[in-house]
Amino acid sequence: MGRCLKRATNGRIRKANTVIKTRQDLSHVQRAIVKIGSSLLTDTETGIRMSMVEHIAAQVHAMQQMGVQVSIVSSGAVAIGCVHLGWLGKTLSVHEKQAAAAVGQSWLMQSYGKAFAKYNTQVAQMLLTKDDLRHRRRYLNASNTSETLFSAGVIPIVNENDTVVVEEIKFGDNDNLGALVALMVNADLLVMMTDVDGLYDANPNQYQDAKRCSMVDDLNDDVMAMAGDSDSEFGTGGMLSKLTAAKIATRGGVVAAIVNGQQRHVLIDLFSAKDVGTLFLCGEDRHSRHQHWIADVLHVAGQLHVDAGAAQAIVHKGASLLPIGMIDVQGDFDKGECVEVVADSMVIARGLCNYNSKDLRRVQGLSSKDMAKTLGYKDFTSVIHRDNLVLKVRGKS
Ligand code: GLU
Repeated sequence: MGRCLKRATNGRIRKANTVIKTRQDLSHVQRAIVKIGSSLLTDTETGIRMSMVEHIAAQVHAMQQMGVQVSIVSSGAVAIGCVHLGWLGKTLSVHEKQAAAAVGQSWLMQSYGKAFAKYNTQVAQMLLTKDDLRHRRRYLNASNTSETLFSAGVIPIVNENDTVVVEEIKFGDNDNLGALVALMVNADLLVMMTDVDGLYDANPNQYQDAKRCSMVDDLNDDVMAMAGDSDSEFGTGGMLSKLTAAKIATRGGVVAAIVNGQQRHVLIDLFSAKDVGTLFLCGEDRHSRHQHWIADVLHVAGQLHVDAGAAQAIVHKGASLLPIGMIDVQGDFDKGECVEVVADSMVIARGLCNYNSKDLRRVQGLSSKDMAKTLGYKDFTSVIHRDNLVLKVRGKS
């Protein structure tokens, strides 16, 4: 187990991410994010399902006793708020959803507070938006606050700050939030607790011989396809969003697991190397922090459509994007913003643009040497330099 000392946090030495290659290695996890879905926590009569909160608190406490630092990413605010407001089944406006989240979030925190008090453990509420992670100072503040809470033995309970988010600054789903938080705090493991037993090779509701995948060491397109489309899930777990989150986590060096939260002691079983859920190992295909930032965090401000030659050079030859390969520019964006590179209607990469959209429209299709003539300046030869480009398809990174 190759581990080295990484940094000191309030007197406690935290080691570099644990290398996990087998289920047995999970016993070496030092820091874990446990994401809990709304369906587990919501009771249509009482709002919060207190028995589940207690069940989670007991297991998280046991993990802490084993020396694991845990943060919970908890969904449920909107659904629980709806129960208390008598809004179940109602089609909600954005403001109604935000109001429901405000009501439900307070129930969530009261319930976690009560459940963890049994173990003399403090909990802390952390509400985040995607915008918080895009801004360096806010990102560092969130990360430092988490460190301080971990060091003090407090359980950070994270949710999206639903009352203020609009579409552009939304995480989209809490699986995504869980993966981004796991990377932010350098966790070793992201556990997504849901109401299905893990990833199946076919829909278990339709096929009796469907098998649970115990371990996935390469989260490729074939595995992604096992999720089906998000509307026809195997159960209600949102498998596609879980696999997408598992991909973000594992590419960033964090092992991921999908487990059934209804199964008694499932977290403890997972840590004791029992064959529960699906475990996703980290492959060779890793993102640096800079690549993760571009691929998973930044807001996409526009699209650059490229021809087949440029697509081939970007995907297979590790090339930068040059103006000659561009056939269309969509959106209005500034130099330095994040854009998608599209070939044949498919997003093949994301990157940071060296020029604004107005200038790019003027130079699309030109060779790099003609750029200065057209623009009156040429700061860069490439439109997106390879160092600032991340592939969204398999190829040469
Ligand atoms: N933040 C939402 C809530 O607490 C949940 C979003 C999700 O689970 O994807 O209700």
